[in-house]
Amino acid sequence: MKLEINRIHSYYGKSHVLEGVSLEVNPGELVTLLGRNGAGKTTTLRSIAGIVRPAEGSIVFDGEELIGKEVFEIARRGVSLVPEHRGIFGLLSVEENLAIAVRASSRWSLSDVYEMFPRLYERRKNGGNALSGGEQQMLAIARALVNDPKLLLLDEPTEGLAPVIVDEIVRILGKIREAGVSVLLVEQNLAVCEKLADRHYVIEQGQVVYSGTGEQFRQEQAVKDRYLAV
Ligand code: ATP
Repeated sequence: MKLEINRIHSYYGKSHVLEGVSLEVNPGELVTLLGRNGAGKTTTLRSIAGIVRPAEGSIVFDGEELIGKEVFEIARRGVSLVPEHRGIFGLLSVEENLAIAVRASSRWSLSDVYEMFPRLYERRKNGGNALSGGEQQMLAIARALVNDPKLLLLDEPTEGLAPVIVDEIVRILGKIREAGVSVLLVEQNLAVCEKLADRHYVIEQGQVVYSGTGEQFRQEQAVKDRYLAV
């Protein structure tokens, strides 16, 4: 299902963080949102999910305006946000974290996600707090999947993870894309982005400054140097 963001402006108090962001995610596309720290990537995801309410602009998903809807109403329409700090319940076990998220009609059952993440199956009785960073990230993604997302919003899923775990997350995201879920991915790891994405957007100070296909972006050294180099 298609997401169309048109010229949104979002604020924290008086601080004007998004200054007319427009972007699209077509059905089944995996699109990345890149940019330096503080550029407004997380705020864009939070605006889509309804956690931040844009003061202007529109966010249309599957033909319906999302701005003004409550977080749970947006979630019910199939938009799932996996936040940067993962938001899993530390005192619940892996299995309990999944069980409370599962939607009866979901195309991913508990056993499907255990098959996708064998590590979570092994750890299913462990508390959320007892998981490694990579396992927590896997659980956060698995929890979104059992809720049957149509649009998955991922905020820096590989941040701070060891290279072998990053590869595992890349493999999972590839599978999610193959399953036809639309994905908007915020990610600092360019290699991860380039492996997975159909298209890319770069934002800087709350504005989209570049958009291009995966193939175009690979050649855009100047864009990478200007907006993404640290
Ligand atoms: P990062 O990679 O650091 O998360 P980002 O591109 O996701 O960067 P945002 O988190 O969207 O950036 O932040 C955009 C701007 O909004 C930054 O200047 C940040 O300091 C500010 N900001 C973020 N959250 C809040 C908040 N809750 N209250 C006030 N200002 C905030």
